[in-house]
Amino acid sequence: MSAKRVRVRFAPSPTGPLHMGGVRTALYNYLFARKHGGDFVLRIEDTDQSRYIAGAEEYIQEALDWCGISPTEGPAQGGSYGPYRQSERKAIYREYADRLLESGHAYYAFDSPEELDKMREDLKKAGSNSPQYNAISRENMRNSLTLSAEEVESLISDGQPYVIRFKMPRRQEVRVQDAIRGWVVVNSAQLDDKVLFKSDGMPTYHLANIVDDHLMEISHVIRGEEWLPSAPLHQLLYDAFGWEAPAFAHLPLLLRPDGNGKLSKRDGDRLGFPVFPLDWQDPASGEKSSGYRERGYFPEAFVNMLAFLGWNPGTPQEIFSLDELVEAFSLERVGKAGAKFDPDKARWYNQQYLRSTGNDELAQRLKSHLEAKGVSIPSMEKLSTVCGLMKERASFVPELYEQGKYLFDKPEAYDDKTRRKKWKPESPALMGELMERFAALPAFEPETLEQCFKDFLEEKSLGMGAVLPNLRLLITGQGMGPGMWEIMALIGKENSMERMSAGIQNLSSEAN
Ligand code: GLU
Repeated sequence: MSAKRVRVRFAPSPTGPLHMGGVRTALYNYLFARKHGGDFVLRIEDTDQSRYIAGAEEYIQEALDWCGISPTEGPAQGGSYGPYRQSERKAIYREYADRLLESGHAYYAFDSPEELDKMREDLKKAGSNSPQYNAISRENMRNSLTLSAEEVESLISDGQPYVIRFKMPRRQEVRVQDAIRGWVVVNSAQLDDKVLFKSDGMPTYHLANIVDDHLMEISHVIRGEEWLPSAPLHQLLYDAFGWEAPAFAHLPLLLRPDGNGKLSKRDGDRLGFPVFPLDWQDPASGEKSSGYRERGYFPEAFVNMLAFLGWNPGTPQEIFSLDELVEAFSLERVGKAGAKFDPDKARWYNQQYLRSTGNDELAQRLKSHLEAKGVSIPSMEKLSTVCGLMKERASFVPELYEQGKYLFDKPEAYDDKTRRKKWKPESPALMGELMERFAALPAFEPETLEQCFKDFLEEKSLGMGAVLPNLRLLITGQGMGPGMWEIMALIGKENSMERMSAGIQNLSSEAN
């Protein structure tokens, strides 16, 4: 290929919320563009007005922004190849359909829906299992190939509805080179005469897509595998126009966790994970779908996880910032086989990002979460310590609170297993004594607490296991958790003493 400027596009149709597979397509386009110092275009393919859903375009833009992969050109950004919505480019397409009519690569077809149905029925009766409007059946239909020029003219001037169809060559080997799959070869005998221009004056996806990719000087078409069957037609359209086709790369499908079929919204609902980047409410049905953002995912973790659904760097490294992905990405390392989505891995990614986020930043996020929940918020310093203590035990920001509620409030219950195993008849007296030692400490710091505890054990000739689990039980109600001295220093002397004395009473009266 010539050393053309790299220009790629993400071309979604605004027919609903963007599926995570769509976000992955956008991401690979973004990575490829940045890697090659090129442009990343967002083009809204809204020629099918019947499938238009209000709010879908805004959703797409917002989702890309949240992921940090905003386009460099598009309806919101502008650019010198606009407009970027196909509905605003309507006037452009007719001219190109006319060019194909003139060059004999396309023709008018006047068939009514009834005539089309009849054609399919007749072909089925004759034994065809995929009846289509093609190089053979078009001979028996009402089109500009079978009607005389005068008839065609008069039908058009009478205002008869018509479509413009591509005249598929009867038998021709069509070769498409795909960066991921190599040569894809199809015989045109398998393909039908696709409608390029509809009776409503709008182009179909196929025509608009080719014309726009050409006019927008797109160098590489990177899109989902579901478009691979259209690629031979697209190649033939480029040939018919006499244009150089862009390079193609068809990305592998995203599969369900069990590998059985395409990942769908239904799988997400059934297995309890989102398949959309952001929450979405269908404007017509009111049906809600959950998104990764609202589930508490970091966009960086979501993007990192998505990058690995179909691509790998060829090294064991799994954590990549967006810049590192740009650096490492190549289409050569994108696989052909469907990529199984793994919800546990998605969670794992978030956990990794949570752990590597600074305590102060986590505290800010936790604060917003607690505010939304109406939980009273301690100082930011305290919140930051909470985050530091809990982040090894959480995968999401809300869990920093949920798993560590005892850092905010006194325990409401005591872990039964620890109580049964560790709380002995002598425990109340022993813990009472330890409590007095703590109460006498001039400073309630992790180091002083630990020293005091060690001295106590030594004096009593007791092991750690006889006392520490009970102390944790009294203070937190749990059998496990982060460092005890940090916890006690965080909640402070007064709270610690209160919890110890209340716990001794509670556990003694409950003990059997
Ligand atoms: N509008 C198509 C879609 O919704 C775009 C396919 C392509 O990238 O060519 O996915």
